[in-house]
Amino acid sequence: MSSVLSAKHFHDEQAAYDWVEARLWPNGPVCPRCKGTERISLMGGQSTRIGTYKCYACRKPFTVKVGTVFESSHIPLNIWLQAIHLMAASKKGFSTQQFGRTLGVSLKSAWFLSHRIREAMKSDGSLLGGGGGPDGKASIV
Ligand SMILES: [Zn+2]
Repeated sequence: MSSVLSAKHFHDEQAAYDWVEARLWPNGPVCPRCKGTERISLMGGQSTRIGTYKCYACRKPFTVKVGTVFESSHIPLNIWLQAIHLMAASKKGFSTQQFGRTLGVSLKSAWFLSHRIREAMKSDGSLLGGGGGPDGKASIV
């Protein structure tokens, strides 16, 4: 038996990227600036962040986080997925302290995560902006 929480994308940052990319980019990476799909390659190298692609049409790097609730955050993506799972599973919600303790993050990060996720859930019921899904909306919960 394995619980939902033992899923790899909750524990491994690369697996978290793979999981989100598979949902947002079912047909492969899409450049958030020019919407190009042709001239894109995954960037390698030790100093490159996980999941960084480069679009050779507009010469800019990007990740699947651009334009989503995860944008401009240094919190590991697998922790984000845990946070979303917790918030989606709990109707009553958590206190910030409880949330931070459960996720093993600082109070500041816990507040940031819960605030952003709550705002995203309120705005359109989907946690990810932009297209990708068949109806132009992609939801990961
Ligand atoms: Zn581009």
